[in-house]
Amino acid sequence: MSIEIKRLSYLPENFYVINNVSLVINEGISTFLGQNGSGKTTLMKLISKLIDPTNGEVLINHINVKDIKKYDLSKIITYISQDRENIQGFTVFEYAEMGRFPYQNFYGKYDNKSLEIIENSLSLVNLYEKRDDLVNNLSGGEMQILRIARALIQDTEIILFDEPTSNLDIKNTKRVKDLIFKLKDLGKQILISTHDINYAESISDFIFMIKAGKLIYSGKKEKVLNKENIIDCYDLETYEGNEIKLF
Ligand code: ADP
Repeated sequence: MSIEIKRLSYLPENFYVINNVSLVINEGISTFLGQNGSGKTTLMKLISKLIDPTNGEVLINHINVKDIKKYDLSKIITYISQDRENIQGFTVFEYAEMGRFPYQNFYGKYDNKSLEIIENSLSLVNLYEKRDDLVNNLSGGEMQILRIARALIQDTEIILFDEPTSNLDIKNTKRVKDLIFKLKDLGKQILISTHDINYAESISDFIFMIKAGKLIYSGKKEKVLNKENIIDCYDLETYEGNEIKLF
């Protein structure tokens, strides 16, 4: 699977939220890293075709997403947003089951494989025992883990995580990270957005630094995550006496 972005721009009003970004992602765990408001979420929404670019293109496996039907794209890409969905009243199982929507037949029924995939995925993330609980009663950490189970259930080769650990405590951050590594081992291509340098360092193979809608540095984590690039990306020279302690 490859994601290729060519001269992509997004100009909803009078400023470029995304400004002439080109990049290629082929393997492993990649991270969009940058300040709040730098455009990371917008890039993810453009890749998932939730919004359309003003200029440029997104190619998945060399096919322009413009030419892929949303329904077909949902068998290739899962986007896990940071927005809270309105899902009151669903059980854990029902929420997980929604991940199978691309595989429903004409009558709204799921294929035979679906039940097995749902049960296996809930077991993998240790939520099988809670399958009949209402999602309203899950903690923030459990809810994020359930979202990952749903991504597994949707069974796409590419998974986008928008700020996967925002609002999670250390233990749940670690659980989510371990699950993301498990997804990588299963051969999934993972794309994460975060403003957290240490988190990016701990999870990424490749880093794409985004600043004010532009891609400023990209490549292997070891190459990109250096002091100069971080100072530039986060405008840290404006902080007097700032000591950066990395890793
Ligand atoms: P990040 O995920 O890096 O925090 P976002 O992609 O959410 O950044 O947003 C980047 C900036 O673009 C923000 O200032 C946001 O308010 C602005 N923005 C995003 N979409 C629109 C839009 N449709 N109209 C106007 N401004 C937008």
